[in-house]
Amino acid sequence: MLNAECTLCQTVGGPVLWQNTQLRVIDAADALYPGFTRVIWTAHVVEMTDLSAVEQVELMRVVFLVEQVQRAELKPDKINLAAFGNVVPHLHWHVIPRWPDDAHFPQPVWAALPQATAAARATQEARRASTQQRLGAYHQALVSRLESLQR
Ligand SMILES: [Zn+2]
Repeated sequence: MLNAECTLCQTVGGPVLWQNTQLRVIDAADALYPGFTRVIWTAHVVEMTDLSAVEQVELMRVVFLVEQVQRAELKPDKINLAAFGNVVPHLHWHVIPRWPDDAHFPQPVWAALPQATAAARATQEARRASTQQRLGAYHQALVSRLESLQR
């Protein structure tokens, strides 16, 4: 079930906000992207189609719940959902709140960091600070919604 070579089998991958036996939700703790959250399947599987149909639905319910709570609490202009696994081939989803004044917009957060003027960097910093202030409420709402999903 777990793979000795795999980072996400051997470590939790970041501060765990919530978990059940099937999956965990972690704070990606990304310096440029406060609120960046990952949903990591517990067992070492690589692709969505390695899961049963029921498991696929269970995983995506959690991914969509994270999206919904980010929208409600962080009020981003866009949510980015992504599953790559090119670097760590263990099934996980990235849920990233995005704003037109963030460091990479409209590029994905994995793109090379674009050049920015001092004024743009100051705006990005202000955005991060205001998002940072909402993180406590976001995490609290997330855990509370995940707990009620479980019942
Ligand atoms: Zn793994």
